[in-house]
Amino acid sequence: MNKKTKRIAVLGSTGSIGTQALDVISRHKKLFSVEVLTANNNSELLIRQAEKHNPNFVVIKNEKKYAEVFAALDKKGIKVFCGEKSIEDVVESENIDVVLTALVGYSGLKPTIRAITKGKKIALANKETLVVAGDLITKMSLEYGAEIIPVDSEHSAIFQCLVGEGFNNIEKIYLTASGGPFRGWGSDKLEYVTKKEALMHPNWNMGAKITIDSATLMNKGLEVIEAKWLFDLKPSQVEVVVHPQSIIHSAVQFEDGSIKAQLGLPDMMLPIQYALGYPKRLKNSFKRFSFFNYPELTFEKPDLKTFKCLNLAYLAMQKGGNAPCVLNAANEVAVEAFLKDKISFLKIADLIGSCLEKINFVASPKIEDYVETDLQTRSLAKKIVSHGSNFN
Ligand code: MN
Repeated sequence: MNKKTKRIAVLGSTGSIGTQALDVISRHKKLFSVEVLTANNNSELLIRQAEKHNPNFVVIKNEKKYAEVFAALDKKGIKVFCGEKSIEDVVESENIDVVLTALVGYSGLKPTIRAITKGKKIALANKETLVVAGDLITKMSLEYGAEIIPVDSEHSAIFQCLVGEGFNNIEKIYLTASGGPFRGWGSDKLEYVTKKEALMHPNWNMGAKITIDSATLMNKGLEVIEAKWLFDLKPSQVEVVVHPQSIIHSAVQFEDGSIKAQLGLPDMMLPIQYALGYPKRLKNSFKRFSFFNYPELTFEKPDLKTFKCLNLAYLAMQKGGNAPCVLNAANEVAVEAFLKDKISFLKIADLIGSCLEKINFVASPKIEDYVETDLQTRSLAKKIVSHGSNFN
């Protein structure tokens, strides 16, 4: 094999997706090499990853940790940078073929835009980027020829179902949802949910932000918006189906009524590997699914009355403009406040609803409007949090 390796930038390398991506990369050393690693705070793990994968560049966002990372890696010939701006700059490096965006939340937006303007292939694990600015991102990706390959398991499933379908139209997609740890619960019980309970997801092992989003069903709401942009759909073409076993990762219904679905065990290693290896499927030794271990696959409608976050996401998507950006910023503040025991579980949706009502609507936002909307929403949401339970 004398083909060049794909050189990967892993943004957010110490998180759940980042560490699994490095695992995938080390299982296929002839195919992949690591060009860039970036992390927010976890300098210790970042240093260990850099020692193992020998990238050309490393960025630690927290500037206080720069000296420590520099001392460990500079002598090995690895260039070390710090700060948020450096993450945006480093993705432009000529030696990168694929940028895996595994950053959390809004922080993924600017580096993704910079990578797109350099025509890099994007393995997108940061759904918030498309939620906030899907219109802009999809237009830019066409303009600069920067292909976006989803890493999110549902979107990877849909993407895989569409391979080979050419110009056949999608009638609708079924986005599956596990339902999270509180499936079937009513508001009376949800009122008293603790952080610990919300952090225990039945099927998927993920970071804290996305695990709380899964418990509120906001994660599915964000994914509905993500799907709309990735696959150019109308809001009415995206239906959420609760499927507690998380075996069917999503499905596409074509215009002849035929449905294609992608199945497998709930393990992020597969969608990560698919995005990095695309268009090739790479042989691996991951655990295989057995139909006989799952004699029953079940399906339900989501409870939009109780899980208001999903409903709010649909409303924001239908409204368009900067509404999904408000939704996302308010949600990030609300989740952080819940994780710090400042607000209760049900107040997450209330807080987002208040922000959607109060922030000025912009019908056709430019990048500056998204930045402004994000700032305004965070400031309003934080104010509401600090005023306790009095939301209106
Ligand atoms: Mn997902």
